[in-house]
Amino acid sequence: MWEGKQTKGKPIMTRTFRLLALGFLATMVCPAMAADKINLLIIDGQHNHNWQATTPAVKTILTDTGRFNVDVATTPTNKDPKDAWAKFKPDFAKYGVVLINYHGQSWPADVNQAFEKYMENGGGLVFYHAALFSFPQWEAWNKAMALGWRDNKYGDRITIDNDGKIVRTPKGEGPGGGHGPAHAFEMTTRLTDHPIMKGFPAKWMRTVKDELYHGQRGPAQNMTLLATAFSAKSGGGTDANEPIAWITPWGKGRVFATLLGHDVPATTQSDSAALLARGCEWAATGEVTLPPMNK
Ligand code: ZN
Repeated sequence: MWEGKQTKGKPIMTRTFRLLALGFLATMVCPAMAADKINLLIIDGQHNHNWQATTPAVKTILTDTGRFNVDVATTPTNKDPKDAWAKFKPDFAKYGVVLINYHGQSWPADVNQAFEKYMENGGGLVFYHAALFSFPQWEAWNKAMALGWRDNKYGDRITIDNDGKIVRTPKGEGPGGGHGPAHAFEMTTRLTDHPIMKGFPAKWMRTVKDELYHGQRGPAQNMTLLATAFSAKSGGGTDANEPIAWITPWGKGRVFATLLGHDVPATTQSDSAALLARGCEWAATGEVTLPPMNK
């Protein structure tokens, strides 16, 4: 009895203390989640797209949700002297998620290593549109990207047939990365109960001209497809349902890719903006509280 009373009282005290200690620790060691806002870092600086216009547009989309604090890290250009890269040392651990609006020169090896460590430890990564061009030689990066804008010898291709089944086309067969002229196209949700897609219609027609990427190539392992779009041959496409949004794991971290958003109008449209913001929130936390697109 005596022992029972002692042990009965103890767990409550211990539990209370643990909760307090955990709460204290969370505010101390998790600046990426401080004050219920997610710290997000956009990396830009080199691109064949107008990143000078799309980065501020993405920043506005995210800050307008009230869910994100957004910083931007801009790399040196490829005309800057090599030692300019010494200043590019993002402190990834400060961020819940890193959004890539970049493709160009490789980052210094120590930055790549720091980024791999960040993701292995539970970081978040978002590939936005032409970020799929980035770093074909970086193995861990491409594993996480799953599919990228590469030629058809680089890796497998993934499409969805008319019965909703995944079709894997081996490297060397079929098209590599490409797109027809920008146009308004229909989107199909493939995983309706995933937090990022919940609330999106099963199908919806985009109301803005955007590029519909096809023939993306890569290792395509551990990817979960969230949305596709039908790429009509009459529009310069492939007559196949092409992947548009998907997720992959990277160590303890989460990766989200969306191919929507060639330019500012295509990025800020309510569907692409909601998809991007929800993907960022999910990559940082594993949950989504932000609303889907306006219907
Ligand atoms: Zn584009």
